[in-house]
Amino acid sequence: MRDAVTGPRVLLKRLREVMAEPLDAQERLDKIVRHIAANMVAEVCSVYVLRADSVLELFATEGLNPGAVHEASLRVGQGLVGTIAATARALNLSDAQSHPAFAYLPETGEESFHSFLGVPILRSGRALGVLVVQNKAQRVYRDDEVEALETTAMVLAELIAAGELEGLNRQGTGLDLSRPLQLGATPLAEGIGLGYVVLHEPRIVVTDLFNEDADTEVARLRDALGRLRISIDDLLGRREVASDGEHREVLEAYRMFANDRGWVRRMEEAIANGLTAEAAVEKVQSDNRARMSRQHDPYLRERLHDFDDLAYRLLRELVGKPHGPIAEHITGDYIVVARNMGAAELLDYSKENLRGLVLEEGTATSHVAIVARALGIAVVGQVTEVLSMAESGNAIIVDGYDGVVHLRPAADVEAAYAEKVRFRAQRQAAYDELRALPSRSADGTDITLMMNAGLAMDLPQLEQSGAGGIGLFRTELQFMVASHFPKPREQEELYKQVIDAAGERPVTFRTLDIGGDKVLPYAQGLSEENPALGWRALRLSIDRPGLIRMQFRALFKAAAGKKLRVMLPMVTEVREVRTVRRIIDREIAILTRFGYNLPTSFKLGAMIEVPSLLWQLDELMDEVDFLSVGSNDLFQFFTATDRGNSQIASRFDPLNRAFLRALRFIVEKAQARGKPVSLCGEMAGNPLTAMALLGVGFKTLSMSPAAIGPVKAMLLDLDIAKLSDMLLPLIASPHREQTVRELLIDFAQANKVPY
Ligand code: PEP
Ligand code: MG
Repeated sequence: MRDAVTGPRVLLKRLREVMAEPLDAQERLDKIVRHIAANMVAEVCSVYVLRADSVLELFATEGLNPGAVHEASLRVGQGLVGTIAATARALNLSDAQSHPAFAYLPETGEESFHSFLGVPILRSGRALGVLVVQNKAQRVYRDDEVEALETTAMVLAELIAAGELEGLNRQGTGLDLSRPLQLGATPLAEGIGLGYVVLHEPRIVVTDLFNEDADTEVARLRDALGRLRISIDDLLGRREVASDGEHREVLEAYRMFANDRGWVRRMEEAIANGLTAEAAVEKVQSDNRARMSRQHDPYLRERLHDFDDLAYRLLRELVGKPHGPIAEHITGDYIVVARNMGAAELLDYSKENLRGLVLEEGTATSHVAIVARALGIAVVGQVTEVLSMAESGNAIIVDGYDGVVHLRPAADVEAAYAEKVRFRAQRQAAYDELRALPSRSADGTDITLMMNAGLAMDLPQLEQSGAGGIGLFRTELQFMVASHFPKPREQEELYKQVIDAAGERPVTFRTLDIGGDKVLPYAQGLSEENPALGWRALRLSIDRPGLIRMQFRALFKAAAGKKLRVMLPMVTEVREVRTVRRIIDREIAILTRFGYNLPTSFKLGAMIEVPSLLWQLDELMDEVDFLSVGSNDLFQFFTATDRGNSQIASRFDPLNRAFLRALRFIVEKAQARGKPVSLCGEMAGNPLTAMALLGVGFKTLSMSPAAIGPVKAMLLDLDIAKLSDMLLPLIASPHREQTVRELLIDFAQANKVPY
């Protein structure tokens, strides 16, 4: 038997020569299997490649019947080869025929071979094919032989990934790597994006697989590991991670892995077998992925991500590339694919051709999703394993309406989507035409349609959407996308920009609504059992008044000589409003003392988001100038239904009798006192739910800018009085068989109201 150390090294050297020869793909593959068989003293060496139709086809063989090449095939899961592909694990058998999974392929003539060693051809943990050696004698292959064959399989993975083997198979079926894939996703921002994949953390393509000198490579690996450990220690020493918290835990895990002897040993073994340090990192990581991605335990899957990150950092240390996303050299429409990313990182990409964002994780409340929505791009999240399947430059379609990703779409899917985009553009053009019309219902009631905003990049939408003003300006977004606490001057500048862009149109700023799910990356968060019910929004502002004081000062300065409207989020008790009022009075006194020009008028409002306010409306209205219902939170707390939990998303239906009764109650109370009341949650932006709101008496709605067109189209055809006559007795009456939603749809259809 060959020498355990020089054997694979000699083989890899031969393969390098074969790779450089001017051969066609089949000849190259034939030569590769001949070399492997000779080097491993095996009578048979065969390569099976996974086709797009999930069939493993024999692409080359030394030792089996040559006539079986491109004829013999097995489905994934079928026979020994199919089992290896399905499990992405090696099989090492001294008597292959007695294995329960053995499937006899008469055309190959393999019955005379007893021992069998098969390894998956892996790329990013995914099996692209299977490499097999067989011997007549019954023997068990040694561990170093298994390792050597796995290392050799990397060469084949590169050959397949480079597209060299496309078109070799007789049926003309594409290979698995080029297979169109449809992946399920959670929609996070509406829209459709067509373009090419840009990996947020581009895979480092290891082109140099074979080493010249193992000692040099081991030294390079150890050096890089040393630098990696130092950089992790550095991160751990930083002030922002110095205390306990999730971030720290992750880094601690990294430190542990970076010192994991097993990991380092496996990489050193791969180098001893002839790989470069980079190729060794990639090989060991691919094995890790294959092993761990079959785990269902979420904790272990999370650790896999940590390990992936670490291997990626190590590769970067080896190739000497700086860290961070690379957005250079992107031309044409593109879609960013990432595991997850911070909001600020998304803003590093040029907006011009950015068409969508696909996240392996990500939820609707992720900050990056909020920013992506402001950018107007399609976003989906929870796309399992997309990173191991997408290659840079692959064609991709993101459907942020239905929650689907099409990777390498077939031509007809692409054409259908191009049509869908055209259709939506036409519909948008029709909405644009409505912009100049007054927002008045068919029976003559004037309704104010406002838009929600939060970043400077939202402001052009004021003109484009035809909004009557900004009904909710979420000031926390500036804090969420920044890498540090925005300075008072930065806050003032943004507020001034907003007021200037709005001109005569009113703007309602909301004070900081942080805490809960809205975490600031640079501020030390509390670990709370129930963050939605925790130390957040106004509670935090009152306990740490420095923040809100600074914010009011910035708002008053920005609105000098103009009108200013501010509202408070998550008010729970009336006395909280009184406390804030005292803070405001003090700020006004200070600004006046220092000779600042003040706003010409100041109105303070309260958001109704906590059900307890429903029983304090009279006292509340003594303290504020206007009310705005935050229906997202009010519904969440009213019905104990988490707004961010996709598991119960179907229960988050605000067309709920009890909830509509509550909304009607608020409107009646406000009308009786002559206090303006609006609603600014997501239900204002959907034509059917917006119709219900008009039916219960709201005259002002604030919604995302893209929703104004569809809601206005509904309004223009709606007879509000007729709807109220139907709806109000309905919601006041006891429960009936038909849901409110069904009855509203019947009404809209019968009265030709677009919804
Ligand atoms: C709401 O809760 O309805 C609301 C408008 O506020 P946010 O979505 O920012 O919590
Ligand atoms: Mg809210």
